[in-house]
Amino acid sequence: MSKVKYYYDSDTLSYKKIERRKRNTFKYASIFILGSALFGFLFVFLASQFIQSPKERALARELQHMELQYQLLNKKMDEAQSVLANVEQRDNAIYRLYFAANPIPEEQRKAGFGGINRYKSLEGFDNSKIIIEANRRMDILQKQIVVQSKSLDEIAVLAEDKEKFLASIPAIQPINSDDLTRMASGYGYRTDPFTKVRKFHYGMDFTAPQGTPIYAAGDGVVTRADNSATGYGNHIRIDHGYGYVTLYAHLYKYNVRANQKVKRGDLIGFVGSTGRSEAPHLHYEVFKDDDRINPINFYYGNLSAEEYSKLLEHAALENQSLD
Ligand SMILES: [Zn+2]
Repeated sequence: MSKVKYYYDSDTLSYKKIERRKRNTFKYASIFILGSALFGFLFVFLASQFIQSPKERALARELQHMELQYQLLNKKMDEAQSVLANVEQRDNAIYRLYFAANPIPEEQRKAGFGGINRYKSLEGFDNSKIIIEANRRMDILQKQIVVQSKSLDEIAVLAEDKEKFLASIPAIQPINSDDLTRMASGYGYRTDPFTKVRKFHYGMDFTAPQGTPIYAAGDGVVTRADNSATGYGNHIRIDHGYGYVTLYAHLYKYNVRANQKVKRGDLIGFVGSTGRSEAPHLHYEVFKDDDRINPINFYYGNLSAEEYSKLLEHAALENQSLD
């Protein structure tokens, strides 16, 4: 039971009961609730400044984990960068050099991205620096890979062409060394077998018995196999492309026709002594861009070092050519 309070009324000279008014009750309750709420807020606010909630602790852990991951990512990018640098170095120093392509300048390979700030959306956070840096490195790495990939595409095309080029240029001696009775005469001034006058001999003479096989010096197309040029007798011309043509003269018989495609080493004819020739031999010429050049430089395909040095020695002798 609640206490009943009284007061003394001097007019009536009697005690009267104090009636507690409802309005007052409401006022006190409001003050109490407001006070407690204020205190509560203050407590929570202060607590939050010094004590982390479980959720905050989890987030902090996640952030720490993420930073660690970024550091690892940076390390991995370092490794990728160094592997790529190695590939680029080999690309410039070996592949592109070998296939006679200009090296790709460093500035072009490592070019960044100018103009607009690509990383604006990543700015303004505590971790902006590390995230922007990782993004920037990744972008450069990506660009470097694209440049490298394009370079390799280019090399692949050049390699394919080089293969064709290497198969085409005259690169073997047109007569088997074992079949030679004597390496007769080389390129340069020789005595003409008929006039006995010194004149320039534009080919190489290989002395061999009549009927000795003659082989194509490189891949190409037979442009002629006839005897309608003075002096050469029965002769064959092969166009190898890239400006190279070979000529085989004084043949006894043909094994190919005009317009026929030949591969290096194909049997194209047989040694004879037709045309302006003193004895059975093959007169062999190599043309580069319509000029006759010394065939001695085009036998690396099928001669041993010893055979080649012997050939050089004989070819240098200023003897009489067989024409
Ligand atoms: Zn000759």
